Amino acid sequence: MKKFTALLLSLVLALCVVPAMAETLIVATNPEFPPFEYVEGEDVVGLDIDIAREIAKDLGWEVEVQSMAFDAIVPAVASGKATIAIAGMTINDERKMSVDFSDPYYNAKQACIVLKDGVVTDGETLKDKVIGVQQGTTGDFAAEEYTAADKVMRYNKALDAVMELAGGKLDAVIIDAPVAANLVASMNNENLVVLDNIEFGDEFYGIAVQKGNADLVASINATIERINTDGTMDELLLKYFPVEEEAAEDAEAAAE
Ligand code: GLN
Repeated sequence: MKKFTALLLSLVLALCVVPAMAETLIVATNPEFPPFEYVEGEDVVGLDIDIAREIAKDLGWEVEVQSMAFDAIVPAVASGKATIAIAGMTINDERKMSVDFSDPYYNAKQACIVLKDGVVTDGETLKDKVIGVQQGTTGDFAAEEYTAADKVMRYNKALDAVMELAGGKLDAVIIDAPVAANLVASMNNENLVVLDNIEFGDEFYGIAVQKGNADLVASINATIERINTDGTMDELLLKYFPVEEEAAEDAEAAAE
């Protein structure tokens, strides 16, 4: 009987202890990329962070966000210091050598921001110019297709690049289109425009995990599938892209 009581007691204890020991999803990101990740007050927020919370919810885990330079993110996941990376990160072959990726969750392209009356007006005039980028991003690689490596100015913060452009120190900035639109709108500077006549290729954002962690990739993919079908992703997109929402509403109103 005593044995049975002891067993029961340890079972009850175990049940009490397990929820308190929830694992932590350590999320590596670079919160300089609105609306995907940015700092608001003391917190890192954004579309990617909300997606990370959905992933953690499905796993029953806690979330801890770790901010770092963009080019430190893949090494952090590869070494296991972070469980996942979600950072508007484009899935590409080079990164796939160091980490595994989830299914794509967002499709973006690069965009080129210039000064309204500046020298760059299209792909031809972009050649050999001084181009600002976020260090180690696909915008950084795209810039090297237009100009010499030493004419690519690399920043840790996208906003710093756009401010340098506004100040006349750069001829252009190449960065992901949704972020270009967000930064230009938030700077409220009429001299900054996003060119629409340069064709950049499709890029797909994925969530990175340590190589070989197939269970975690499967769980992340299940969450991506869930939020794409239960309306969560639509809600999040409207939350973080309110301009597009207004534009869509205007288009709807015009069609009526
Ligand atoms: N999508 C780009 C890349 O993966 C930019 C990401 C970023 O700056 N956060 O390189």
